[in-house]
Amino acid sequence: ETAFVGQSLKKTYITGETQVHALRGVDLEIKAGEILVLLGPSGSGKSTLLNIIGGLDRPTSGQLWYRDTELTALNEAELTRFRRASIGFIFQFYNLIPSLTAEENVRLVIDIADDPMPAKDALELVGLADRRHHFPAQLSGGEQQRVAVARAIAKRPGVLLCDEPTGALDSATGVRVLETLAQANRELGTTLILITHNAGIAAMADRVFNFLDGQIASIQTNDVRISAS
Ligand code: ADP
Ligand code: ADP
Repeated sequence: ETAFVGQSLKKTYITGETQVHALRGVDLEIKAGEILVLLGPSGSGKSTLLNIIGGLDRPTSGQLWYRDTELTALNEAELTRFRRASIGFIFQFYNLIPSLTAEENVRLVIDIADDPMPAKDALELVGLADRRHHFPAQLSGGEQQRVAVARAIAKRPGVLLCDEPTGALDSATGVRVLETLAQANRELGTTLILITHNAGIAAMADRVFNFLDGQIASIQTNDVRISAS
């Protein structure tokens, strides 16, 4: 089963007189339920592609489908609806609201979802049920990122997009967060797309897209996933 198909995706940023070709004609197919890593040097187009896949941005040209829907043909309101229903985002910095408890942070997202799980269940899945009344400042970095994971999975998105999810964490804490993401992939069938510079994360992927200069230069397939720990 296919989650995304992209054809000739190009993205050009124009700043004054300067043009930056962030994506130079990317063709891709992403399978439902796979763990996919986007790897490559800074500036090679990984975040641009992740933002386009998540409906946060649009390509300059080319076509993108999610299942039967052509995302590049949707208007703004339809694209927002797609994003809310189908995509969970996890960023390097957890983006939790400091004045809300862990459970309240998770509940925020549930309010706009079609078929959410209770906030407490999502926190239970990431191993933080007993911390649900804590505020972000009372939680460690790893725990805050797991709250962010709980928030992202609570609406049962088909796809989780993660931009350097362990970039701000020490390696042991990062492993715990990755295990949580892998668990969501296993138990909920969530398609996981991660940007990382971490070779350990690349080893736990089903496939790795190697980016170079706005293109997917090569694709590596891992027959055996290495577990995060
Ligand atoms: P990566 O995620 O691989 O580091 P990006 O997708 O962030 O790469 O960036 C690809 C290229 O596009 C870079 O040259 C970057 O400077 C440029 N770029 C990204 N976002 C913008 C923007 N909003 N405006 C102008 N240039 C941008
Ligand atoms: P981790 O191994 O996830 O980085 P830490 O060693 O930083 O965790 O924290 C251990 C425990 O201390 C955590 O369970 C966390 O809830 C608690 N803790 C961390 N920072 C604070 C804080 N500023 N206030 C209250 N409790 C905290």
